[in-house]
Amino acid sequence: MTTNVMTIVGARPQFIKAAVVSHEFTRRGGFAEEIVHTGQHFDHNMSQAFFDELDIPEPAVNLGISGGSHAEMTARMLVALERELIERDPDVLLLYGDTNSTLAGALAAAKLHVPIAHVEAGARTRSMTNPEELNRICADHVSGLLMACTEASMDNLQAEGIGDRAAFVGDPMYDAFLQYSSLAREPELVSILDGSTVDIPDVFHYATCHREENTADDSTLESLVRALDGLGKPVVYPVHPRNRERICALAERIGTKSLVLCQPVGYLESVWLVNHADQVITDSGGLQREAFFAGVKCTTLLPFEVWPETMVGSRNLLAEPRLDSILDAMGRPQEIDETYRPFGDGHAARRIADEIERYVGRCS
Ligand code: UDP
Repeated sequence: MTTNVMTIVGARPQFIKAAVVSHEFTRRGGFAEEIVHTGQHFDHNMSQAFFDELDIPEPAVNLGISGGSHAEMTARMLVALERELIERDPDVLLLYGDTNSTLAGALAAAKLHVPIAHVEAGARTRSMTNPEELNRICADHVSGLLMACTEASMDNLQAEGIGDRAAFVGDPMYDAFLQYSSLAREPELVSILDGSTVDIPDVFHYATCHREENTADDSTLESLVRALDGLGKPVVYPVHPRNRERICALAERIGTKSLVLCQPVGYLESVWLVNHADQVITDSGGLQREAFFAGVKCTTLLPFEVWPETMVGSRNLLAEPRLDSILDAMGRPQEIDETYRPFGDGHAARRIADEIERYVGRCS
């Protein structure tokens, strides 16, 4: 019997996780997957580039929905995804992570009584002002199969009274990191300031920052840019399209010297940058984990922990977007215990496929 899966993706981190799971569906057979792309990320280097280099099956449809306020974007997705669910009538809806695409898919499917399987379930920041936290909680509470990356995520689901629907599968980002590290390649960096090609410095830090907590407010963003420019080493910073214009204007006004402000790079190039960076500075959930996988010290510019598993032995420390705070975190040496592997064994995709098969069997 074939399991009909409708997968919703919309944003960069979801493409990476979906890649390894889609490959597993194809490898083992018995799954017919239709990928629905909401269009949340649409620039070539934030979307199509990932489908090309990770060999992800072409989406059955791209809904072209992006931009606007959270409510506008989510509402438009909700309407469009309800239509897709009715038309495609899948056995199960597969969701990844914590974006507005995840939330809209979860709500649309729950109202139609379509079984929902959520990957990266149970991750919590415990900050209800964090937009992704609302998406995670809502998606988890309406999903019938909760697939957790870590035991701490399992504990969170248990504490919220939904542990009976949860399974520890490991982190598909870890699968991807292991599978693609040997293919990682040095990026050709393109400056966002003038479009020129920029050489990668011999020694550099790798930074990405785009969360609302760091970018919504002008003075916070300025403090962040000044701090990254003052770390005493070049910083390679691929800028999220959402913040491009404001960061360009800031860089010109401040006259940044050691910040390499460039276009987003592909996943294989990002993995190369992680593996070759002196340190990582980020507010990205994915990059925090990749730094951990690579054994590279990370400083997270957020007021809360998203992945507490990485915050051991000073391997990943929280800091405020200010020079003194960042330097303090970066200055504390990390201690690595090679036996500590909280994100599974690199076979999360296999367990995800197993769990989906069992879940669909229970639902039918
Ligand atoms: N990434 C990338 N190109 C870049 C910056 C990041 O491929 O220019 C990758 C990065 O390696 C990680 C993922 O994108 O795997 C993280 O995505 P993002 O920060 O957008 O989302 P989050 O992980 O915070 O949900």
